[in-house]
Amino acid sequence: MTVIEAPPLLSVRHLRATYRVADGVIPAVRDVSFDLHAGEVLALVGESAAGKTSVAHAILGLLPAQASVEGEVRLRGAALEGEELRRARGEQISVIFQDALASLTPTLTVGEQVAEMFRVHRALDARAARAAAVEALRVVLPDAERVAAAFPFQLSGGMAQRVMIAMATALRPAMVIADEATASLDPGVRLDTLARLEALRDGGTAILLITHDFGVVARLADRVAVMYAGAIVETGDVRTIFRRPRHPYTYGLLESIPSLEHPGPITSMRGQPPDLAKLGAECPFLERCPKAVSQCRVDPAPALLAADTGVEGHTVACYNPVAIDRRPA
Ligand code: ATP
Ligand code: MG
Repeated sequence: MTVIEAPPLLSVRHLRATYRVADGVIPAVRDVSFDLHAGEVLALVGESAAGKTSVAHAILGLLPAQASVEGEVRLRGAALEGEELRRARGEQISVIFQDALASLTPTLTVGEQVAEMFRVHRALDARAARAAAVEALRVVLPDAERVAAAFPFQLSGGMAQRVMIAMATALRPAMVIADEATASLDPGVRLDTLARLEALRDGGTAILLITHDFGVVARLADRVAVMYAGAIVETGDVRTIFRRPRHPYTYGLLESIPSLEHPGPITSMRGQPPDLAKLGAECPFLERCPKAVSQCRVDPAPALLAADTGVEGHTVACYNPVAIDRRPA
């Protein structure tokens, strides 16, 4: 019997995004491949400038003109380009950005902006679209009518974040990209947003969760892909990544999280990410790596390979991976 597996919801292969700048090029995404399955939450984690947002924008076709993009993005097996990409972006894939207020149009009421989505994508007339907009807002805001009549500047940060989530989910997309959706929010709004993302996940929506907060990863993600200097350096299920990280970078990131046993200031990993415009032949993590061997100085990091844990889907791109597990926190 032949079992034909359904293609992943989203499949990204050999994605490269390069920005042209005045004095050269910045290879922000360097050969990134991953799958996101229906209903799954995949966290893309890494420090600032790792290329996480560039991956998201490349998937959505939102990179600026000075960026060149290579590689393949498929949604349920179909290549996403041109008109298909535009449609998918509205209906199948939506985005929650960090700065909710900045992504709303200041001159339209909240209700008008949400209604517009229903007019364009559901071909509703003005009246039906307005009603649909209020219903969509009601899912996240008890006083939906009042919020619908408000302009963005009249919203608190928490309300704006909820409007953003309502807009991202109104058309029931198969997947949502949440790019630092919980960063720099005050604690109440952050918890509220986390709960909304959880509800979304529990409702079966796939999420590409972009974050540098491992607390968010632990709470929401099924799988993790760790990005460093434009490349994915380790992948695995969330438990394996937390307990048995194999890339020295992943290990270092996890060790810099404060815990109950090790309170006190966060001891961040030594060093800084490399200047992407000046990447040499060596592993980009070399200068910061406690485990570097001679090969790391002459060769770029290897491709992702199965880790020694033997756990399915656990891959690491390193010549001298960590060999011990972390102590349970
Ligand atoms: P953060 O956690 O700070 O959001 P990130 O992982 O999302 O970081 P990106 O925003 O994708 O990282 O940036 C990756 C690299 O690409 C960085 O070196 C950044 O300076 C560069 N970059 C991003 N956007 C542009 C642009 N429009 N033009 C030139 N370089 C850019
Ligand atoms: Mg970013």
